[in-house]
Amino acid sequence: MIYDPNNIFARILRKEIPANVVYEDDFALAFYDLYPKAPVHALVIPKGEYISFYDFSEKASPEFMKGFYKAVQKTIDILDVKDQGFRVLSNHGQNGGQEVPHFHLHILGGRLLGKLVQPA
Ligand code: AMP
Repeated sequence: MIYDPNNIFARILRKEIPANVVYEDDFALAFYDLYPKAPVHALVIPKGEYISFYDFSEKASPEFMKGFYKAVQKTIDILDVKDQGFRVLSNHGQNGGQEVPHFHLHILGGRLLGKLVQPA
């Protein structure tokens, strides 16, 4: 699969589309999900052309991964969900339910979250 540079998150990274930014540095951009599934719902995306969790794991350098995960941690701090608890998840591909083909982590919190996967 080839990275689509016109996916919506790539356009947010290029500032072609606005986002409600939580945190930004050289490695990542974090912003609130437009259609929140919990009282707190933010997305953290790397500043690089990575399609999915697997693509990022395969291609990103250790230094970049470290910077990215530090940005995730800073986002969690800003969202202030650490003490009450939160969920981090990433959807990969069709069965995972991935809609946007730019790697992103969801950070969800603000209430007691339900089961991770609903029964079919
Ligand atoms: P996924 O299904 O894991 O690919 O998640 C994509 C997420 O992006 C969904 O939760 C959408 O609500 C969210 N989303 C789509 N467009 C935007 C946007 N323009 N700004 C913020 N979040 C968005």
